[in-house]
Amino acid sequence: MSNPKPEDLVQIQYENPPKSWMDPAVEFRKGTFCYSALAKNLNYLGLPNPREWQPFDADWKLPADWKRIILDGMKERLERFRSFRLFMDICVRCGACADKCHFYIGSGDPKNMPVLRAELVRSVYRRYFTPAGRLFGSLAGARDLTEDVIKEWFYYFHQCTECRRCSVFCPYGIDTAEITMIVRELLNLIGCNINWVLEPAANCFRTGNHLGVQPHGFKDSLDFAVDELEELTGIRVDASINRKGAEMLLIVPSADYFGTPHYYTFLGYLALLHEVGVDYTFSAYASEGGNFGLFNSHEMIKRLNAKIYAEAQRLKVKWILGGECGHMWRVLHQYMDTMNGPADFLEVPVSPVTGTRFEHARSTKMIHICEFTADLIHNGKLRLDPSRNDRWTVTFHDSCNPARAMGLIEEPRYILRNVCNQFHEMPENTIREQTFCCGSGSGLGTDENFEMRMRGGLPRANAVKYVKEKYGVNLLACICAIDKATLPPLLEYWVPGVEVAGVHELVGNALVMRGQKERTTDLRGEPLVVEEAAHA
Ligand code: SF4
Ligand code: SF4
Repeated sequence: MSNPKPEDLVQIQYENPPKSWMDPAVEFRKGTFCYSALAKNLNYLGLPNPREWQPFDADWKLPADWKRIILDGMKERLERFRSFRLFMDICVRCGACADKCHFYIGSGDPKNMPVLRAELVRSVYRRYFTPAGRLFGSLAGARDLTEDVIKEWFYYFHQCTECRRCSVFCPYGIDTAEITMIVRELLNLIGCNINWVLEPAANCFRTGNHLGVQPHGFKDSLDFAVDELEELTGIRVDASINRKGAEMLLIVPSADYFGTPHYYTFLGYLALLHEVGVDYTFSAYASEGGNFGLFNSHEMIKRLNAKIYAEAQRLKVKWILGGECGHMWRVLHQYMDTMNGPADFLEVPVSPVTGTRFEHARSTKMIHICEFTADLIHNGKLRLDPSRNDRWTVTFHDSCNPARAMGLIEEPRYILRNVCNQFHEMPENTIREQTFCCGSGSGLGTDENFEMRMRGGLPRANAVKYVKEKYGVNLLACICAIDKATLPPLLEYWVPGVEVAGVHELVGNALVMRGQKERTTDLRGEPLVVEEAAHA
């Protein structure tokens, strides 16, 4: 089946559905769901109920006591997570969140309204955990837990990218992303998970990174990048792996050294860190900052994240610097310290170049490379020639996790304004805390889910289209590895002619390095559009 055309997908019906929301029946239409996780990945991770099945099968081969497992799992989580219990109880159904989800905007399906998405599980909570639901059933908004409800949960809680946009608008602070995380965790208990989450998680558990790149492959990639950067700049940088006693450990998403356009960002890091002369090392075992455990369960988050502090301790570094990644920062900011800390063996990060002490990281001991670079620029430590980015008219996409989960909003903009001459913001209600998701986060970036990804990405693409037509924007900068993988096909679909880049690719382009040869190309190997400014 070929993918639908944009002119077909924009015919969105925002109408009342023909049947009651309580009816759980779901049609697993191709293009709108993700395939199940392969048994080998469940086996590898030691997860329950490995088997061959697909969501469109009539028989999901659930364990005989699946209902008890789910209800016990709910009970345990209601007791363990105060937020979950609160979010089940306090929604007043005011509707403020209803039109804020990109999946609702792009699909018109009411069950993609955050409030109704949560009702899919809240109704089961009422039925089994509240007196009113037990006594009055559907009159109290309660539903029985059936296999159809499980299928409905699988469908709609894998049409939520855990982006948290809805939570910004909820007067009670209800975070539907947290509800989605819990429901996915419950589904996990009976073996209903998707491959695009568990395959990266299994790879990460085996080799330290989502792509399954082994240590020698990681070294090859790094060597290749060092050679290529030398060709482009005339400067050979030293990028070590597993070097004990380095000042800092650099952790990046694995896509940075294997994917495009991520790779140009990776070249940007290498150029920058060489130019300012910092003492850092990579780790072949913590060769991934991203954490697909976030899309599976709290337990998996902890398992995959543990390697970061473990490697920092083994290599005896002082602190950790992290690259451009989205969910890596959600995990770092909200979980790492309590799950795998305290990291008492590390020091509060201090820039060896400027002396700035990053007090906000005194607990985690890890800072974002945008914080590090913005501080360098602020202290006048970089020589920058923004004209090297003159072929780009740039806008910035706030990646959901860095923006909403950790407030990294000003630093990337400050950097971009210093390394580019032409920068324009998208409309205010589509950026910063209100940013729209790429539509493919939380493990939903699969080919089989293409239609739903394009629908979910429509609001983001629409804002890009606006600045493309108004200012001639031809580059969308971002600081997330998933964005760099999923925004190019999204923009090709909705807004052809706009490319995607990491912020540190643009830093690497603009950076004037001591001893460099005359730069004739950018990091993509494309000719610079203006004469090299005189920087002796
Ligand atoms: S905005 Fe909050 S309280 Fe209102 S319907 Fe949505 S989740 Fe419920
Ligand atoms: S977290 Fe994001 S994807 Fe999920 S319901 Fe809220 S707005 Fe939609």
